[in-house]
Amino acid sequence: MINFQETLDEIYADLSSITTRGTVATYIPELACVNGDKFGIHLIDANGMSYSVGDADEAFSIQSISKVLSLTLAFSIRGDKLWQRVGVEPSGDPFNHLSLLEMENGIPRNPLINAGAIVIADVLVSQLKKPKEDFLSYIQKITNDETIDYDPKVAKSEKDTGFRNYAAANLLKSYGNIENDVETVLDFYFHQCSLRMSCKQLANVFYMFMNRGKCLMNNEYLNINHVKRINALMLSCGFYDEAGEFAFEVGLPGKSGVGGGIVALLPNKFCVATWSPGLNAKGNSLLGMKALEQLTTKTGLSIF
Ligand code: GLN
Repeated sequence: MINFQETLDEIYADLSSITTRGTVATYIPELACVNGDKFGIHLIDANGMSYSVGDADEAFSIQSISKVLSLTLAFSIRGDKLWQRVGVEPSGDPFNHLSLLEMENGIPRNPLINAGAIVIADVLVSQLKKPKEDFLSYIQKITNDETIDYDPKVAKSEKDTGFRNYAAANLLKSYGNIENDVETVLDFYFHQCSLRMSCKQLANVFYMFMNRGKCLMNNEYLNINHVKRINALMLSCGFYDEAGEFAFEVGLPGKSGVGGGIVALLPNKFCVATWSPGLNAKGNSLLGMKALEQLTTKTGLSIF
């Protein structure tokens, strides 16, 4: 029987003294204010037992991790029609690259790079009555936690500086792959990225991807075939041009964000979230990746 708490304690003891932690993202000015010393891990197992170390209860900007949640809602509404507008191949490119988009006629490689997530945002803006409110209450329902909210300061900060995302959205619009106006779609996208959640809340919301589509309260949000597809996308595309490295080091489907969060899961076994704001050169949390590598190595639990 694996003692998850002991394992997390060991990892924390080993890593919390490390001072080389990468750099906190500054291209969204509001994210630069975050204390780079923060470090937390929260793990929830298949029986709903949870284990924590460090700053696991402190909320932070989940950024690109939100792309999995918007994809999940859009997929459950639109089903396979979604794949007419966005691909399922890893990009091998940084999250905000535009070159492939032009080469491939406005069909983004996958829903977890920015251009793909902007198409998904457009789908939700078309499908939901009150997109921002409805998306937030979807997340609150899955976690049974009404304290989860957007961070308007972060959303505004990204809107003021999100020139590449404007470029992506305009390019998509020029190819006819955005139905609504660019401003409305990006307003939704910047808000979804600004969601503030703790490691504990993230592990709770991603629990459904390790639990065959059912949340902690046992309500079904996705069928098992949809879960399979989303987990496959996380594995192949969740870390941009470092997806191969993450599979190699950690061996779990997962998703990172430039706020320094990472969520990863082993179907039917556990779901884990880490937070350390310092990023490596590819935009993934440096300490978070190390912690997850240790977790799967120490426990011998990975999809491989
Ligand atoms: N909101 C960020 C952006 O669009 C998300 C990037 C990320 O977390 N990788 O640039």
